[in-house]
Amino acid sequence: MPDVLVLVDHDGERVNTSTYELLAAARRLGDPGAVVVGTPGTAARLTESLARHGATSVHAAESAEAAEFLLTPAVDALELAVREVAPVAVLVSATTDGREVAARLAARLDAGLLIDAVELDSSGVVTQIVFGGSYTVRSQVTRGIPVISVRPGAFEPEEHPADPVQRTLALPAVDPAASARITARRDTPAGDRPGLTEATVVVSGGRGVGGAEGFEVVEELADALGGAVGAARAAVDAGYYPHQYQVGQTGKTVSPQLYIALGISGAIQHLAGMQTSKTIVAVNKDPEAPILDLADYSVVGDLFAVAPQLTQEVTAR
Ligand code: FAD
Repeated sequence: MPDVLVLVDHDGERVNTSTYELLAAARRLGDPGAVVVGTPGTAARLTESLARHGATSVHAAESAEAAEFLLTPAVDALELAVREVAPVAVLVSATTDGREVAARLAARLDAGLLIDAVELDSSGVVTQIVFGGSYTVRSQVTRGIPVISVRPGAFEPEEHPADPVQRTLALPAVDPAASARITARRDTPAGDRPGLTEATVVVSGGRGVGGAEGFEVVEELADALGGAVGAARAAVDAGYYPHQYQVGQTGKTVSPQLYIALGISGAIQHLAGMQTSKTIVAVNKDPEAPILDLADYSVVGDLFAVAPQLTQEVTAR
């Protein structure tokens, strides 16, 4: 079987679910090789989980500065791995960083890039969501090794035990003048909540929430369901909720089992970030709100009356 390289998303200790999804997707094309970029010892800590989800090789790209710089170490590592194993494709999660890594890698390899993939078939044809979610198209790369960014949530993680070969990639020193150094990280989920792109349930609030204090009802429902909190841009721009929780074209892409939109109108730019969610529930007091056309279940009503009742009902079970 040919190799398919997968960039591993992790926090140094734990592999993100999106990587298990990539490994499941990669198996449709060949043998998944996991590229781990991190400080020394990271690949050893993650290998067992990667092996359980089907990685047939683990490529460790480790250096003391790997976690200090944005994107460059990941692009360098993937480029090295591509030159070493000549894979049939490279898969990266379509997160904010992943999208940029994929684009830079494709440019370096002078290869075709396919973004926002939601389906892959063994012939190399990829189904993508394009134009902010307005269309679904089927595409194939005709130049070089395809670099594909895959939407989180599009594939189910699968347990598929393997016994991975260990490989080491010698990362070049990062040129600090040409790379962005990470000075602080703020994207940590509040309390025990799952991360936004990892969560199986996302409860989001929009301008209809009316203020920062209004987000309490959003958080309470999210907590009752064990979910993450998201926000529409109008709520973020108005300062109701921090930007790292924004869902949409210029925020995060989510694809949970359940997405609940509270006081969100359903602008195309918001839908671009959540419309592949498996089940969508919307609460809006305007019966004409576009989100109601997309939702599987809608409640036309005041979110401050409906959401607390939902929370109470879920908590009582
Ligand atoms: P509104 O459109 O103001 O909707 C508020 C809704 O709340 C209304 O439907 C109203 O009926 C309802 N409501 C009010 N009070 C209540 C109540 N008490 N109970 C129930 N319902 C109530 N937007 C994003 O979300 N994410 C993005 O990433 C994004 N990127 C963008 C990129 C570009 C280039 C541009 C131009 C725009 C982008 N936008 C994005 C903005 C987008 O166009 C919308 O302006 C935004 O999504 C609207 O947010 P909203 O639904 O919270 O607000």
